[in-house]
Amino acid sequence: MRLLLVEDDPMIGGGIGRGLRREGFTVDWARDGAAAELALANKVYDLLLLDLGLPRKGGLDVLKTVRGRGARIPVLVITARDAVADRVNGLDAGADDYLVKPFDLDELAARIRALLRRQSGRADPVIKVGTVALNPATHEVTLHGEAVTLSGREFSLLEAFLDRPGVVFSREQLEEKLYGWGEEVESNAIEVHIHALRRKLGQNFIRNIRGVGYMVPRQS
Ligand code: CA
Repeated sequence: MRLLLVEDDPMIGGGIGRGLRREGFTVDWARDGAAAELALANKVYDLLLLDLGLPRKGGLDVLKTVRGRGARIPVLVITARDAVADRVNGLDAGADDYLVKPFDLDELAARIRALLRRQSGRADPVIKVGTVALNPATHEVTLHGEAVTLSGREFSLLEAFLDRPGVVFSREQLEEKLYGWGEEVESNAIEVHIHALRRKLGQNFIRNIRGVGYMVPRQS
């Protein structure tokens, strides 16, 4: 899952970025409101993590722009301001949740997972497609109830597929899910990860749609 973190404080932004990458998220970090809008216009993000007090353009204005365009991206506001009015304004401007700084990284990660779950219309914290189950919180994957060991990238790729079964992703879309700004992507990286997932989960689990991309079919 690819997140856009918007935070001008270098210490806080660095800490959140490192913590969320350790949790398996792909994180791009914008340092001001204008950079955030540019990023949102150019990439597809699964969630926006938005500070309110920002240089160049305030977080509330960024949020209003996002919602004004009709974007349904989940937005979690992170703010140092403890004034009730700020939180109310954030929620009323279209935020889905908020955390007041300082907060615990485990709580932040759990709230992000809850918002992503809601966005996908799931209530069950474990994602199940056919005989494969994936737990985003514990990073456990099972096939027929047996644990399967995946690398970090393999896990992220599988999560992207299982989150949207039946949806065909192009190689470029999958690269964008897995690799953030400045991360080197080998030209065959996605193929290599898909090969590994098929070896571990079955050759037919991920389908190749010729000329379009890859998908995991819906299964009953
Ligand atoms: Ca700030």
